[in-house]
Amino acid sequence: LPSKLPDVGSTIFTEMSALAQQCQAINLGQGFPDYPPPEALIQAVGEAMRQGCNQYAPMAGLPQLREAIASKVMAQHGRSYSTESEITVTAGATEALMSSLLALTHPGDEVLLIDPAYDLYAPATRLAGAEAVRVPMRAPQAGDTTFRIDWNRVESALTPRTRMLVLNFPHNPTGLTLKIEDLDALEALIARHPILLLSDEAYEHIVFDGLTHLSPVSRAALAERTVLVSSFGKTFHATGWKIGYCCAPARVMAEIRKVHQFTVFSVSTPMQAGIARYLPEADLAELSGFYQKKRDRLLAGLKDTVLRPLHSEGTFFLLVDTRALGTEPEKTLAVRLTREIGVASIPVSAFYADPARPEANHGLLRLCFAKLDATLDQGLERLRGLE
Ligand code: PMP
Ligand code: GLN
Repeated sequence: LPSKLPDVGSTIFTEMSALAQQCQAINLGQGFPDYPPPEALIQAVGEAMRQGCNQYAPMAGLPQLREAIASKVMAQHGRSYSTESEITVTAGATEALMSSLLALTHPGDEVLLIDPAYDLYAPATRLAGAEAVRVPMRAPQAGDTTFRIDWNRVESALTPRTRMLVLNFPHNPTGLTLKIEDLDALEALIARHPILLLSDEAYEHIVFDGLTHLSPVSRAALAERTVLVSSFGKTFHATGWKIGYCCAPARVMAEIRKVHQFTVFSVSTPMQAGIARYLPEADLAELSGFYQKKRDRLLAGLKDTVLRPLHSEGTFFLLVDTRALGTEPEKTLAVRLTREIGVASIPVSAFYADPARPEANHGLLRLCFAKLDATLDQGLERLRGLE
């Protein structure tokens, strides 16, 4: 059978979670919490089911959820989206990203990705018949604690065939957030090149140290060209619910909906009804503090290990420099640590086009801190044994 994605196997997240289970390891790999969603949200979904919200939702999503999303985005970014024509509820951020790439890119187009990049973007681009072009961030040099985006590098990679630039801030896996200067750079870039922005903001509510999440849609000129994508999975500790959304100008959203209606048509009605009821009352601002405590607990514990943390400004991930352990490829190391000390992580090389190449291997592993304090402490206890 001729494969459309001959070089694609199981994702690194599936692979590392399976290995973690097999080895009964502490799973700090795949990004999911080991604690439940808010009780009031679970109640709201249960009530929605009992009240008869069990048949197909409208294709674009329940009106009351689109209203709640519109209010949230307005409060966050001061941008108004029409619930009729500019907001769609999707099966997680995943489906919003896939539907956007399938709907908006054509064979012969180029889609620019900034490496390290989340694993979905390149295969989704190829399924659309387009070509993924990858620009690396500047990896941390000795003594540095962050990756950096070089917008000149990004602009140099643009060609007349570039249709879209994929952004993902707060960034998985580096934890980078966008700053005012980044939005300035994007605005200048957009003024010179007629491209679309696909902005994956799955971690929008998790930013630390008083930083604010800045979305491209907070600028009118950028919003005109942007598809904003997010997910309730991270925000409500419910990655298994697979509910997300996208917002875009009507002419762009009309195309995305054409794909959405023939991939899933619509998504789970009781989940949408429950989230619509809960969202207006949810204290979303509290999430950053909740995760900052977990980040800091992990940082404090890492001091007693040979692993050196990089700085994380957002998301529920942080990277650790493992070079004190030697120079083996990140994937080999991640597998070995899972087997030998019982802690699973994700090799950052998996976020590059070719994980085996030296340019993809900076000796970095990603740790997920969306875990109970007891789980983090157990993981740290095991990491302390490394030398
Ligand atoms: N984008 C990024 C950057 C992610 O990390 C994830 C998964 N956590 C997704 C998209 C997918 O989100 P969802 O589970 O809502 O499909
Ligand atoms: N986004 C999650 C992560 O980065 C994984 C989701 C998945 O397994 N596809 O860990």
